[in-house]
Amino acid sequence: MKYVCPSCGNELKLPEITSGSNTITCSCGWSGTENQLLATAYQEHIGSEEDTTRALVNDIRQVLSEHFAVEIGRFLKRWGFMEKPTAYVLGRYLHAISVAMLAAVIKEYAKLEKERTYAN
Ligand SMILES: [Zn+2]
Repeated sequence: MKYVCPSCGNELKLPEITSGSNTITCSCGWSGTENQLLATAYQEHIGSEEDTTRALVNDIRQVLSEHFAVEIGRFLKRWGFMEKPTAYVLGRYLHAISVAMLAAVIKEYAKLEKERTYAN
């Protein structure tokens, strides 16, 4: 995956040890955290088979499965999306929801970042 500066588009390198909150600075003057850099990269790679994207989707899916699977199942059944609840069908929906959630989060994050950049 390629990491580029959200401000100028220059390619940037992540530090060897990533914590997500390490500060990255670009020669153009932009500075931000690794996570901000990652979000920009994911935006370009969304829908691809990148490992990191998959890890993010799996992470969201884990949260959904652990805390919301029953409620989402009820919702799907109530509105006729899932006639006979099965683990397979629910799993398919949870995955699709996770992908859509990730895309929404990244999109909103990019908007917030832009607003933050202009506000400074
Ligand atoms: Zn830059």
